Amino acid sequence: MNKRVYLSSPTMHDLEMKYIQEAFDTNWVAPLGKNVDEFENEMASFIGVSHAAALISGTAALHLALKLCNVQTGDLVFCSDLTFSATVNPVSYEGGVQVFIDSERETWNMDPRALERAFQKFPKPKAVIVANLYGIPAQLEEIKEICDHYSVPLIEDAAESLGATYRGKQTGTFGKYSALSFNGNKIITTSGGGMFLADDEAAVKKVRFWATQARDPAPHYQHSEIGYNYRMSNIVAGIGRGQLVYLNEHIQKKKQIYETYKQAFKDLPVSMNPYSKESEPNFWLSCLLIDKDCPVTPTQIREALGKENIESRPIWKPMHLQPVFQGHEYVTVDADTDVGAEVFERGLCLPSDVKITGEEQERVVEIVKGCFLK
Ligand SMILES: *Cc1c(COP(=O)(O)O)cnc(C)c1O
Repeated sequence: MNKRVYLSSPTMHDLEMKYIQEAFDTNWVAPLGKNVDEFENEMASFIGVSHAAALISGTAALHLALKLCNVQTGDLVFCSDLTFSATVNPVSYEGGVQVFIDSERETWNMDPRALERAFQKFPKPKAVIVANLYGIPAQLEEIKEICDHYSVPLIEDAAESLGATYRGKQTGTFGKYSALSFNGNKIITTSGGGMFLADDEAAVKKVRFWATQARDPAPHYQHSEIGYNYRMSNIVAGIGRGQLVYLNEHIQKKKQIYETYKQAFKDLPVSMNPYSKESEPNFWLSCLLIDKDCPVTPTQIREALGKENIESRPIWKPMHLQPVFQGHEYVTVDADTDVGAEVFERGLCLPSDVKITGEEQERVVEIVKGCFLK
């Protein structure tokens, strides 16, 4: 059996150990410490925001962003529909109610026209959460303009899009608050972790306060609010500092993987996950979409790859189709359109590992092509 080819697995270098070693040598394994401070500074300056708070996960960053928006029981939050559940779960942590917004075919992300329709139907949501799916930026300026028009804060879930740009600006700068993730399969990883980003210093201070059990400034342990244990450890942040140095290298490799698939599949009835000319994705995952009337299914391809020890993955199942969100409102551009369901039915995430070799990718290509010969 050939060595397993992964969808997207951690790619470590040598700098990560150097920062971990430093933390050990100075006994700053926890809590917090220099790696956390520097990881925050390095990330904030890379992205181009003034402040960042390192947390245990991207989900924690989204949760605290929603708390800053004062989401409370029964409040509506407009959310990307075609995304990982972590984008939308934190709304429920605060008792809020998700309204799902359909995607556009051009980027698979939140359709600004559907968002506008949602505001016509439900004028007063507490926040809007937009995700940049698979590393491809949404039409972020258009979405931000709509949110500004209705004076509703935008939260940007940039968990999958670190390093991608829209109109020359990094993702993670368009939201009033933004979230990054360094989970195991993301473009860089700290084994697990996330970051909250904002230009508002007071907001970031509040996030750090909540994330460290909401301790009032007193020598005794006094609490006026409910807190969380959400802060990143100094060891984990050391991995992040080492990884960040290699982010651009990872993006270049991911882009090359995407271009190789695109070229190889140009005569098949498929297309690759699309992006706007105004954006430069980070190409976190390469995905294919089978043409509408083609009888080949993503499951056939996934099983054919699986037999050869190659990992692929269905597209995220849209939130409006999830049992847990049954009965939630779902806003599309019109009654006949459901882009999320369409992409889910005909799409597949292909192996996009930074360490994939040319030979391995060639095998993937041949197996995929074989599925269309029968
Ligand atoms: C990974 C991911 C998250 C959550 O990040 P964690 O660090 O795993 O909590 C949120 N949103 C999207 C779109 C993701 O892919």
